[in-house]
Amino acid sequence: MKHTDVNFDTACIHAGQEPDKLFGGVSVPIFQSSTFAFEDADQGAARFSGKDSGYKYTRIGNPTNAALEGCIAELENGTAALATATGMAAISTVFMTFLGAGKHAVSTGSVYGPTRTLLEREMARFGVESTFVDSSNPENIKAALRPETALVYIETPANPTLSITDIEACAKIAHEAGAILVVDNTFCSPLLQKPLDLGADVVLHSMTKFLNGHSDVVAGILVAKDAALIKKMHGVLCQMGGTIDPHQAWLVLRGVKTLAMRVKTAMESAKKLASELEKHPKIEWVKYPGLPSHPQYELAKRQMSGPGAMISFEVKGGVAAGKKVMDSVGLCTLAVSLGGIESLIQHPASMTHASMGPEARQQAGITDGLIRFSVGCEDYEDIKKDLFEALDKI
Ligand SMILES: *Cc1c(COP(=O)(O)O)cnc(C)c1O
Repeated sequence: MKHTDVNFDTACIHAGQEPDKLFGGVSVPIFQSSTFAFEDADQGAARFSGKDSGYKYTRIGNPTNAALEGCIAELENGTAALATATGMAAISTVFMTFLGAGKHAVSTGSVYGPTRTLLEREMARFGVESTFVDSSNPENIKAALRPETALVYIETPANPTLSITDIEACAKIAHEAGAILVVDNTFCSPLLQKPLDLGADVVLHSMTKFLNGHSDVVAGILVAKDAALIKKMHGVLCQMGGTIDPHQAWLVLRGVKTLAMRVKTAMESAKKLASELEKHPKIEWVKYPGLPSHPQYELAKRQMSGPGAMISFEVKGGVAAGKKVMDSVGLCTLAVSLGGIESLIQHPASMTHASMGPEARQQAGITDGLIRFSVGCEDYEDIKKDLFEALDKI
């Protein structure tokens, strides 16, 4: 059943899912089976030749995984999707499919750390060159293009600076150069941003974050409007082996049912918290796409249907002040990752980005007192009390 005629919140609950044909189970069954029996030799042959689209082996395809893929494809306004074991498995699949010796990629500079390392360190070993630019100005992407550029990769809002890149402008620039545009939509979820509708060729998620939303699964997904792109990536994923496990796929399918409710609740709190923080005497600045002080505020309003649940802010007093806040929060959990139902807080200068060194951090806009806050679904007053009491300890 297609749900293109229903609203997004409804699609989160039903898209890609039908009551099971055997017993009518309302929840999609978990097909925890590595392999699928053939009725006879002819059927086995037909499945391997592609004449019969039935299942063969879970690395190649599984009904529970297919339900999740159908669901997310609809939510992103795509036609096909490919679920993967982690977000990084989705990202490595897209690189292994569209890059190769002699090819070049242009990427947002402040992308998720392992994405940058994958391009800089691993893909480079196979003859792929990459250029990293501040993509909040699309002209920087244009200037970095080469005849051999095959892929433009952007993350918007970016991590942890929350700087925003114009997807539509980047799609135009990439296509004029004969490259594809890939967008990491993890920070928004399809509720708030639909990159495929803005011209992106492939959109991907770490489903570990908002899509699953319960901090209990690692998973990823790739979605496209052009099903041929997904078919190509499926071919690569089958050999690379980063297939999602059916039980994991089922957990994500269950998490997605409450995606709209979770993101809306967290976003309402984030909006209030961001404006309160901006007035706080211990805070230098707040970066949140919903605040007029955000450098790409107008672009955010145009490209996103809401400013999301991620806030970055700078506490006065540098690294020591940042660590003090980390040691003083109680309700807000001191942990990396984001997009869970629980509020998560982290301090990049002493944690995720400590190994970069102060100079490289400064260049990337990761200042010493920067705190990244993933607002959860707890009661707003409880979140505010916990965070503000921690700020008082600085
Ligand atoms: C977490 C994350 C990833 C990687 O996803 P995993 O599921 O941890 O492999 C990629 N991009 C962004 C923006 C992320 O936050």
